[in-house]
Amino acid sequence: MKKILLAITAFSLLASCGKDNKKNETTVTPESSKDQVVNVYTHRHYEPDQKIFKMFEDKTGIKVKVINASADELIQKMKMEGKQSPADVLITVDAGRLSRAKDEGLLQSIKSDVLEQSIPSHLQDVDNQWFGLTKRARIIAYSKDRVNPEDLTTYEDLVNPKWKGKILVRSSSNIYNQSLMASIIANDGEEAAKEWAKGMVANMARSPKGSDRDQVKAVVAGEGDLAIVNSYYIGKMLNSPDAEEVKTAQQIGLFFPNQANRGTHINVSGAGVAKYAPNKENAIAFIEFLIGEEAQKIFTDSNYEYPVLESVIPVEDIKVWGEFKEDNLGLNKLGEHNKKAVLIFDEAGWK
Ligand code: FE
Repeated sequence: MKKILLAITAFSLLASCGKDNKKNETTVTPESSKDQVVNVYTHRHYEPDQKIFKMFEDKTGIKVKVINASADELIQKMKMEGKQSPADVLITVDAGRLSRAKDEGLLQSIKSDVLEQSIPSHLQDVDNQWFGLTKRARIIAYSKDRVNPEDLTTYEDLVNPKWKGKILVRSSSNIYNQSLMASIIANDGEEAAKEWAKGMVANMARSPKGSDRDQVKAVVAGEGDLAIVNSYYIGKMLNSPDAEEVKTAQQIGLFFPNQANRGTHINVSGAGVAKYAPNKENAIAFIEFLIGEEAQKIFTDSNYEYPVLESVIPVEDIKVWGEFKEDNLGLNKLGEHNKKAVLIFDEAGWK
């Protein structure tokens, strides 16, 4: 019964869409319209995404087929599949990775006034090959007991000798750090970025290990005083089913760096249409749906990310952190400087 209803919805939707109207009336039957699909290769491992995909299916009758894997695996898969790839949409986190997919020739430029106009320009690719879906800030989580937030200012100031042995940050192989470094290169220049990397290594509380959450836990455990972390992890920890995690997150303060100058480093999770998408129109409709109000609300409500759509209010848990100035650096720069960032990390001995 459900199947039939879905097919009918899809049929009426197709039958009512613009210039192909006539063709659809004569050739499309409920039988064939139920074959409408969009194949989504996604790296996002967040459960709320499933809910959003279901909403898209219900609204359009287009079935969302999901392939879930790590970004590197998905990119590798698309490369191997080449022109035969069933992928319509690639979703991944971090503009650095989206740029990598673009550079590998796995995405295509698309025309969508909705995406063009709804998403701030610095959060979308200059060639329209990928678009930001959600925002995250890379912030400083500090020990409320041991740090006076008035002593915090910028990313650059983290190399101040006063923080010697106090900074916790994950490995440089992680794309979040590579993108932060790319933003430092773009803003301060290569030489300053090299000095910054060295200063950071000198101030580390321990050799980098673990995830963003692990850095926050290490602050509370007293291993260091400051952790560099993506904002949504704090929201997740505060709402965790694990009471220990909630307690941990409650013990730290949050600081948004560089408010007096360029603003805090932000990044996106984003999506692009695959180069050989067999269902290109569905792919565009799908991405447009993801930046619609309904989907944006779920992204922020369930994953504690900032919406890219300015009309959507962030979930209360992150709204209480207050508004902040964000670095408006075009995120294409993160991809452009990625290789350099990796080299600088290596040179500085940032593991
Ligand atoms: Fe993450």
